Amino acid sequence: MPRAVLAAVMPGPHQPVDVREFAEPDLPAGAALLRTARSEVCGTDVHLWHGRLAGVPYPIIPGHVTTGTIDAVRGNVTDVHGRAIREGDRVAFFDVHRTCGRCLACTAHRTPTRCPSRRVYGITDPAAEGLFGGWAQKVYLEPGVVIAPLADAISFDAYIGGGCGLLTAAHIVDRARISLGDSVVVQGAGAVGLSAAALLKKSGAAQVIVIGGPSDRLVLAEKMGATATIGLDLPPEDRLARVLDLTGGLGADVVVEAAGSARAFEEGLRMARNGGAYVIAGHYTNVGDSTVNAHEHINRKHLDIRGCWGSEVGHFLRALRALEAYGSEVPWHLIGARTYGLGAINEALQDAADLRIPKALVDPWM
Ligand SMILES: [Zn+2]
Ligand SMILES: [Zn+2]
Repeated sequence: MPRAVLAAVMPGPHQPVDVREFAEPDLPAGAALLRTARSEVCGTDVHLWHGRLAGVPYPIIPGHVTTGTIDAVRGNVTDVHGRAIREGDRVAFFDVHRTCGRCLACTAHRTPTRCPSRRVYGITDPAAEGLFGGWAQKVYLEPGVVIAPLADAISFDAYIGGGCGLLTAAHIVDRARISLGDSVVVQGAGAVGLSAAALLKKSGAAQVIVIGGPSDRLVLAEKMGATATIGLDLPPEDRLARVLDLTGGLGADVVVEAAGSARAFEEGLRMARNGGAYVIAGHYTNVGDSTVNAHEHINRKHLDIRGCWGSEVGHFLRALRALEAYGSEVPWHLIGARTYGLGAINEALQDAADLRIPKALVDPWM
């Protein structure tokens, strides 16, 4: 008899998550089984719960970013550095898998995050296929999944505190093309905005202005590296005035949208300087149309607007390096405010949806 593994399953949008038993999988050659130490409940899970993402094969086991120790391996399994993976290794894995490497997106367009074959643990992998999500005591790492060692200096809580937001932030840094001394505005103080503030500062931005709320998140933003914060309790025109004041009347060199709001986009366009750049990372779901005056806010401004979708293996590895190098100064572990067991996931989702916490951690053995 295979051993039973407990997992929390999201049956569909607007339905309570329930805990089910799965059989421990028979591993094919090249596969590994992860004993989950921590996973997360992030904004994506709230979107999944509210049915805001298209093409999700419910029921699913959510939890797309997960870490733990290797429980079993079958055959020769190596990490991204080419070293053999062994039972007991502390690892993290890249949640995106089955990117084909052959399609237009993967090759000519060099946008692998838009590969149509791409699947993501905890989001586009159905529970019917097995343990493909982190809200489970064990996760099946199929052959080909990118696995990386977790340095001793990185705690499970710090890795998941950064979690998907930190990977997105590593991508934002690429897209922002920061120059030494730049002034940056980050719209949003959620998990993405907080990690973006930290990495943009470490990348050479002299000034990192975080706009968001509630107030406890702005306090955390300062601990992450923000040099100034602006609360959403201020009306939009006062927020703009404050950014202009902080940037010598010019506006920021780079504005990063990590708020997921159509109004934030309209506001952010006004905050960028002439010839500046605007990176859109928070519009992960369709939050409706924005009203833009293309003459005033884009063309005359000579503004560069860049999308930022998903993340690649390089961002995953940069996130790990950032945690190792800066984890003692940047409190990623504080983003995961509370840890929940599988039986308390509905509560965790509600806490995340109500913005009571930036992110909930999941310990499936609790
Ligand atoms: Zn492809
Ligand atoms: Zn996430």
